[in-house]
Amino acid sequence: MRAEIIAVGTELLLGQIANTNAQFLSQKLAEIGIGVYFHTVVGDNTERLMETIKLAASRSDLVIFSGGLGPTQDDLTKETVASYIETGLVTDSVAMERIEAFFRQRGIVMTQNNCKQALVFDRGVVFPNDTGMAPGMAAEYKGSTFVLLPGPPSELYPMVDRYAMPFFISLLPERQVFHSHVLRFYGIGESALEERLLDLIEGQDNPTIAPYAKEFEVTLRVTARANTVEQAEQLIEPVETEIRKRLGEFIYAEGETSLHEVLVEELKKNGKTIACAESCTGGKVASLITSVPGSSAVMRGGIVCYTNDAKHDLVDIPREVLETDGAISEQTAKLLAENIRHKLGSDCGISVTGVAGPDPSEEKPVGLVYIGVAVDGLPTLVKEVRLAGSRHAIVGRAAKFALFYALQ
Ligand code: ATP
Ligand code: MG
Repeated sequence: MRAEIIAVGTELLLGQIANTNAQFLSQKLAEIGIGVYFHTVVGDNTERLMETIKLAASRSDLVIFSGGLGPTQDDLTKETVASYIETGLVTDSVAMERIEAFFRQRGIVMTQNNCKQALVFDRGVVFPNDTGMAPGMAAEYKGSTFVLLPGPPSELYPMVDRYAMPFFISLLPERQVFHSHVLRFYGIGESALEERLLDLIEGQDNPTIAPYAKEFEVTLRVTARANTVEQAEQLIEPVETEIRKRLGEFIYAEGETSLHEVLVEELKKNGKTIACAESCTGGKVASLITSVPGSSAVMRGGIVCYTNDAKHDLVDIPREVLETDGAISEQTAKLLAENIRHKLGSDCGISVTGVAGPDPSEEKPVGLVYIGVAVDGLPTLVKEVRLAGSRHAIVGRAAKFALFYALQ
């Protein structure tokens, strides 16, 4: 099966946004063994879109579109594809109800162009939009299948996971199951991870091994195709064992989760509480922890102590320590973690102090970060890490490191 992806949107051509939908779709299709042969980007223009559709239809079995399903004048993907595949458009009642409910709830009057979003092909299948308004859809024409998906990633990703993937699988000649295990890593970069698994990744066929980095974490998806889930598990098992043998120390969880979710889960399970004192991460650790629903059961609070005065006044770090060791030091990280724990009466205290850049501080290099973890009854753990990247990346990675060490 030959597939191609057409992203529609002038903002993509202008470089205002990156075509991450095509990247996501390609990864998803690779997981189920569908080859993607072309990525095309075309502006919101009927003639050029039509040219693109004709070319795609001439060379691909599966043509997937992203974008242009919205209510405005420039959203013309649906109308143009419908005209090419000689299909009418009808109102989808489920989508229409959702749209009406949306406007009712907010007390705004619905304009006529919003009804346009509920139009779908009068044949084929409809993919409900659980996180937005315009549904997706698919229909066949002269041997090719045309699939339309919304542009916003917050709508496209869940629609693909829930509805489009099962549909793609149903198009495959042999009915097979695709089953994956997701391993989540921390403390190792994507390239280091790939290097240590190179022989496995290069020789892969079934299962496939796909590493990807997102939000400063690295994830590995091992996917097998087989007739049953049990058979797929049997194919995955030896490969996963080998990966764990080589990199087990960096694996912190399996499946769809994150460092902060795992940490909150662990604390809950053990009936423990946490508090944090942050300098260079500016509250990022607290923000990640509190982004987890139910974190109020474990999170006592946090202090952002950015200046030396704040570290002294708010977290009782002695002036001598700040002057002799410095704010960015093992000793300061240790005391921040211990003091915040006492101040907020939590079982665990975490601290982060370091240089986010772009300029060095206290003559210490950009990316040098100290993380402290103080736990009742245990010696305080202090870790020095040296992080690379922009200010944004250093802050993101430092916060994740703090969560990772808190898990240890
Ligand atoms: P809407 O109802 O929001 O108008 P739509 O289906 O018409 O949705 P577009 O108007 O094409 O989609 O795009 C809406 C937004 O979705 C864009 O502004 C952009 O933020 C995002 N988006 C669109 N296409 C892509 C893409 N290929 N990759 C990543 N993001 C995209
Ligand atoms: Mg739009």
